Amino acid sequence: MAPNTERTFISIKPDGVQQGIVGDIIKQFEQKCFHLVAMKFLHASEELLKQHYTDLKDRPFYPGLVKYMNSGPIVAMVWEVLRVVKTGRLMLGETNPADTKPGTIHGDFCIRVGRNIIHGSDSVESAQKEINL
Ligand code: UDP
Ligand code: MG
Repeated sequence: MAPNTERTFISIKPDGVQQGIVGDIIKQFEQKCFHLVAMKFLHASEELLKQHYTDLKDRPFYPGLVKYMNSGPIVAMVWEVLRVVKTGRLMLGETNPADTKPGTIHGDFCIRVGRNIIHGSDSVESAQKEINL
């Protein structure tokens, strides 16, 4: 990796794939000059999802979250560029689409927090963990 760059893990969740907006989302990151360094279309196992979301295991929505993420294939991607973790989260908008403005991905493509179509790492450390998974 070039100096000063970092990587983030972004995945389009099963509802985003179902909605047919994979291309629209990838286009936004490409337009923002993020570099795509890896991409995989996969149906994540329950076990993998539990590892990915282990920090949330005591939250009431965790069982439903794992079930939702396991309900169909996802598009898992690694994007690389300067400050990509923070900029990626800004482009996603707030976790809950009801709290975020149009012009963000959550603001433009979804309605409910439990079906919010896309994930992005929240720190460089979690990006590293999620990419390794
Ligand atoms: N989530 C949910 N209900 C909530 C909060 C979160 O269903 O009240 C889901 C939602 O899909 C979210 C994911 O759990 O994206 C992970 O939650 P987190 O708080 O880590 O938000 P994120 O990092 O995805 O913004
Ligand atoms: Mg999170």
